[in-house]
Amino acid sequence: MQFDDLGLDRRLLSLIAHRGFEQPTDIQRQAIPVVMAGKDLLASSKTGSGKTLAFLLPAMQRVLRSKPLSRRDPRVLILAPTRELAKQVYGQLRMLTSGTTHKAALVLGGENFNEQAKVFRQSPTFVVATPGRLADHLKQRNVSLSGLEMLILDEADRMLDLGFKEQLDSVNAHAEHRLRQTLMFSATLDHQQVTEIAAGMLKSPKRVAVGEAE
Ligand code: ADP
Ligand code: MG
Repeated sequence: MQFDDLGLDRRLLSLIAHRGFEQPTDIQRQAIPVVMAGKDLLASSKTGSGKTLAFLLPAMQRVLRSKPLSRRDPRVLILAPTRELAKQVYGQLRMLTSGTTHKAALVLGGENFNEQAKVFRQSPTFVVATPGRLADHLKQRNVSLSGLEMLILDEADRMLDLGFKEQLDSVNAHAEHRLRQTLMFSATLDHQQVTEIAAGMLKSPKRVAVGEAE
């Protein structure tokens, strides 16, 4: 299976080609069709296997193809465990949004809270955030997740190991369940807290484990 066979928008295919990526990685081949079918996903594959585009490509596809539920709320929220990892996701996301009308916001702990609150007023389509800081903005009602279409937890095992369970629960409680698609990525699915939080946040998820005996 090639990128051309995944049913992705031509704009996205040309960005991929421009970046010099010839073939989808295994996790991209397996995850992208599941996400494009609108299903929840619980996925694992090792570091460096291309998980970021496995969720960013179908998320961008969804945004390009459908009307938003709300004109002001973010449509896609991506949570990552650390500032550094969130920045890396944001970098790949900017490659996909540049030249479109869709804004992406990066919301990290350790930065000026009130200054940061202003980014939500620009109605970003995508928000990439660390969990603690996003939970603080939710508490202050700086952002609403009632129009959220996709919630993506990147490196869920690491977020839980870092003690972000409460913040993830809070985000889950604020986001509209009924219409929301949720994706969870983890280095391993053999992690008790990941299994627990997946049971509470995902609806009949498809499980994809690359290079790991389940
Ligand atoms: P992971 O999140 O699984 O650790 P990343 O998404 O950060 O991995 O991707 C690792 C590297 O592989 C990045 O530099 C990314 O640009 C590159 N990459 C992603 N998809 C492909 C692909 N289909 N072909 C070649 N390189 C890719
Ligand atoms: Mg990653």
